[in-house]
Amino acid sequence: MIPPVPYSTHPSPLESGLRLDGKRMTPQRKKVLSLFEEIGSGIHLSAEEVHAKLTSSGERVSLATIYRTLRLLVKMTFLNELDLSEGGNRFELLSHDHPDHHHLICIRCGRTEEFENNEVVKAGKAAAKKFGFKLLESSLNVRALCPVCINE
Ligand SMILES: [Zn+2]
Ligand SMILES: [Zn+2]
Repeated sequence: MIPPVPYSTHPSPLESGLRLDGKRMTPQRKKVLSLFEEIGSGIHLSAEEVHAKLTSSGERVSLATIYRTLRLLVKMTFLNELDLSEGGNRFELLSHDHPDHHHLICIRCGRTEEFENNEVVKAGKAAAKKFGFKLLESSLNVRALCPVCINE
C-alpha cells in the first residue's frame, strides 16, 4: 500500500479527501466513506450491505448510486475493492494502520478472511526492485470456497 505513516499524525482519509478534492466529495460520498471509517478497517462490505446500512439509517439513496459512489471512492484510493467472480464485489477502507494484508475469499458467499504473510510482501518488494517499479502495495487475494459453500 502506502509507506507506513504514524496513523495519529496522518489526516483521516475523509479529511485528506476533502482537502484534496473538495468539489467531488459530495455529502453522499462523504456519508459512504464515513460509514467505512466508523466500522473501521478489516471489514469487507458488499454494495448491497452498504446500501442496506445507509437506508436503515434513513438515507434515501439507490443501489445504483451506491455502486457509482463506491467505484469513485476506489478510484480516489479511499477504498479497496475485492473482486469476487460470483459473490459480488466487497469494499474495505484503505488505511495506514492496516497495510499489506491478504484475503481468503469465498467466491460464492463472499465470506472474507484476512491473513498476513511476510513472504508475499517480500516477494512484491523484490519484484518491484527488479523491474525498477515504485512499490505501493503487495497483497494476495486467494479465491476459494468456504466450508459451507463446498457442500452446496
Ligand atoms: Zn481486508
Ligand atoms: Zn461461502
